[in-house]
Amino acid sequence: MSEGIVTASYVGATILFILALGGLSNQETARRGNLFGMIGMAVALIATMSAVTANLGILIGGLLLGSTIGLILAKRVQMTQMPELVAMLHSLVGLAAVLVGFANFMDPGRLLHYTGIELTIHDVETYLGILIGAITLSGSVIAFGKLSGKIGGNPMLLPARHWMNLCLLLGSIYLCKMFVDQSAAGDGLTPLLIMTGIALLFGIHMVMAIGGADMPVVVSMLNSYSGWAASATGFMLSNDLLIVTGALVGSSGAILSYIMCRAMNRKFLSVIAGGFGTTTGSGASSASVEDQGEVVEMHAPEVAALLAESKEVMIIPGYGMAVAQAQHIVCEITKTLRAKKVNVRFGIHPVAGRMPGHMNVLLAEAKVPYDIVFEMDEINDDFPKIDVSIVIGANDIVNPSAQTDPDSPIAGMPVMEPWKGTTTIVLKRGMATGYAGVQNPLFFKENTRMLFGDARKSLDEVFKNL
Ligand code: NDP
Repeated sequence: MSEGIVTASYVGATILFILALGGLSNQETARRGNLFGMIGMAVALIATMSAVTANLGILIGGLLLGSTIGLILAKRVQMTQMPELVAMLHSLVGLAAVLVGFANFMDPGRLLHYTGIELTIHDVETYLGILIGAITLSGSVIAFGKLSGKIGGNPMLLPARHWMNLCLLLGSIYLCKMFVDQSAAGDGLTPLLIMTGIALLFGIHMVMAIGGADMPVVVSMLNSYSGWAASATGFMLSNDLLIVTGALVGSSGAILSYIMCRAMNRKFLSVIAGGFGTTTGSGASSASVEDQGEVVEMHAPEVAALLAESKEVMIIPGYGMAVAQAQHIVCEITKTLRAKKVNVRFGIHPVAGRMPGHMNVLLAEAKVPYDIVFEMDEINDDFPKIDVSIVIGANDIVNPSAQTDPDSPIAGMPVMEPWKGTTTIVLKRGMATGYAGVQNPLFFKENTRMLFGDARKSLDEVFKNL
């Protein structure tokens, strides 16, 4: 393929990626957005491969190996493991940036192609690529651990951690200068290796310091970092498409981080500085179950009767719906109630589940009509008119202590307010806390009823009784 056709294909792929991002911003166009993304990626791969003349066998081998692993993973992974998978994939982007950076530095042709200021620019690109890549790599591995529960959710707060971060930053700048000075003479591996170690430590420290409740911001932030790491790789390889695609992912991740911060009423800088999400606070955060009163249980037949008599029903799904894979039976119940002229709506909290848009994906999979699915901001004022709210495996996103307890790790986070309606039914297996590790006073309110058990089994029973 001629260079002109490759460039034209890259422009085409870029446009398709932009259309894909546009499509993904809305449930109704998400499928089309995905399709654009897939076609764009296919065009990008074919154009890139056609431009390669040497070692095509290795390239095809790598492509086949990567695709096979990707296919197996995509088939095997449970919906509940998606956030961990995404974190792991981010770490691979970081690893790729680090490896490409070192390969670039060790390339014997480097000193032949670049001299003077061009060499300095190239070296800084390599340095930054490895730096961002290493932070993304180790940060994502820790995020994977935290999301899968292998590492505790509490923030690790080292003494003088801000000073430590500042020293790491200043050290990295000094090492960059050392690296650039030495690289013209063919040296510079030592400062590069030391910086990689520092960046790996920084990534670990940064994510370890962030508390459970703030993890949504970390997930979107690492998404953004992985984009910048890809972009830096693009600079190192002089590949325009990788630069643009990386910048698209980087900036959309940054916008998502901002949206997540707004959803949680946090300032981005204070999330990065860490410290939220600790469970050492007082009040609801540390109150035991006994302190809060008694919970009142309800059984499936009564729940079905209550639903059948209602006019307005609000369904609030949370992480437990994903664990129980209850979305299909939820859809069946919705259909039945709508046939009985009950107005059923879904209220989606922006951080429900374990990844942005988690609940929307599940509901779309079960074919719940889009026009009855609302964002929290759209429906939170409607709760006083709601007869029955069904909270399915949600906890932190319906926790009133976010509004009432300033010491709570989730203090200030906007939450759904089902307690303002006539009755709230909470479906969960026991009295366990949610991701942020805080007890929920909603369960003890007078107008709350608990339907204990796996959400899918409980809803199966409710459906039979309906
Ligand atoms: P939570 O994690 O707060 O609560 C989930 C609840 O579901 C648990 O209390 C659990 O209780 C219940 N549950 C688990 N399995 C089942 C089951 N099979 N059947 C019925 N219930 C079940 O979830 P929310 O969605 O309310 O809140 C999301 C939390 O995750 C927030 O703290 C958010 O900050 C955090 N987070 C969100 C991310 C995102 O991007 N959306 C990313 C990372 C973290 P029990 O065990 O008693 O059944």
